[in-house]
Amino acid sequence: MSRILIIGAGGVGRVVAYKCAQNSEVFSDIWMASRTQSKCDQIAKDIQANLGVNVHTEQVDADNVPELVALIKKIQPKLIINVALPYQDLTIMDACLETGVHYLDTANYEPKDEAKFEYSWQWAYQDKFKAAGLTAVLGCGFDPGVTGIYTAYAAKHHFDEIQYLDIVDCNGGDHGKAFATNFNPEINIREITQKGKYWENGNWVETEPFEIKQELNYPNIGVRDSYVLYHEELESITKNFPSIKRARFWMTFGQEYLTHLRVIQNIGMASIVPIKYKGIDIVPLQFLKETLPDPGSLGDNYEGETSIGCRIKGLKDGEEKTYYVYNNCKHQDAFNETGAQGVSYTTGVPAMIGAMMVLTGEWTGAGVFNVEEFNPDPFMDKLNTEGLPWHEQHNIDLEVL
Ligand code: NDP
Repeated sequence: MSRILIIGAGGVGRVVAYKCAQNSEVFSDIWMASRTQSKCDQIAKDIQANLGVNVHTEQVDADNVPELVALIKKIQPKLIINVALPYQDLTIMDACLETGVHYLDTANYEPKDEAKFEYSWQWAYQDKFKAAGLTAVLGCGFDPGVTGIYTAYAAKHHFDEIQYLDIVDCNGGDHGKAFATNFNPEINIREITQKGKYWENGNWVETEPFEIKQELNYPNIGVRDSYVLYHEELESITKNFPSIKRARFWMTFGQEYLTHLRVIQNIGMASIVPIKYKGIDIVPLQFLKETLPDPGSLGDNYEGETSIGCRIKGLKDGEEKTYYVYNNCKHQDAFNETGAQGVSYTTGVPAMIGAMMVLTGEWTGAGVFNVEEFNPDPFMDKLNTEGLPWHEQHNIDLEVL
């Protein structure tokens, strides 16, 4: 029985709030705060109408530590689920330290003026969280998140040594829009326009954006063009499983999407460097975000499904083996349950489960942790009962290896 504070009221925040409300034996008192309180109010209203559970709402600027501290002191939650933007990770961690509250997020910290994806800033909080006796769980969405749990589960039950890991992320859905991103457009475009990077034999190998492409077959979806890009969980997983010789992350993109992206870049709209417009500084990518569809609004007519998983090769009892563990999530099912599309759903459900693991004592420890450092078994059980059931295949052709 715990009080929880959710910060951020976008598509992911909506799913987290719904899933916490469905598990009121653990989350007995739910608070939600964001920059725009009316978005929290709308989610609270929908949850009251659909589930009969009360969600309290507040306004907060999570860039401002004293404001966060005042709010946390007023609410006194046991844990904060941070599903605002990656820019707010450090301020919320600072406020948690000041008030003695556990912390969980779904994306690693990024400075606003530099699209740089690494855990260094948050790992630097290790000693502070340890000294405070608090738990910080980093990257507990789907990817990062479930992909790390899948890897830990494979290492625990199916391999003596994991050698090759390919994380494969397919969105086989169609939202009917010419161009839209599935989560915050600013964060998403910053991520995919970066150079690609993968881990091989103890080093990072850099690629041009979208340089490595392969057709991969996804269960129940079919063959899709898949591209190697850098994704943050590669950093923590290769550190925590040092036997891995090569780790890559693949994501599917359609040609129409890539054409739009190329135009956006060519005309300078993907830039994060401020420009002057009528005397005001504006960041082109932030302006573009305002013109694109709100990812939270894509759910209504979203057809199809996502498929995300880990394709692994390694050794078991001296023999080489392959293993594929994945989840498929239908956008319509996610929307019918929570009013949000599948990408928000596949992020929000694991965030709720991670919070549940900490609050029920399944995951303990003082310090800053990536999810693959904890026991994966209770988390895997909850995935099956909370809407993201997983499937596994042994000794199949993994295509990528
Ligand atoms: P949205 O942009 O839809 O929502 C973000 C929310 O955070 C909005 O309610 C926004 O408020 C709020 N917010 C932004 N800045 C502040 C601030 N300074 N103070 C308080 N609130 C603030 O994003 P999503 O819901 O799509 O994504 C949420 C998070 O989930 C992101 O960090 C994203 O990177 C991560 N993610 C992780 C995935 C994974 O698998 N691990 C996959 C997808 C997303 P306002 O409405 O006022 O702008």
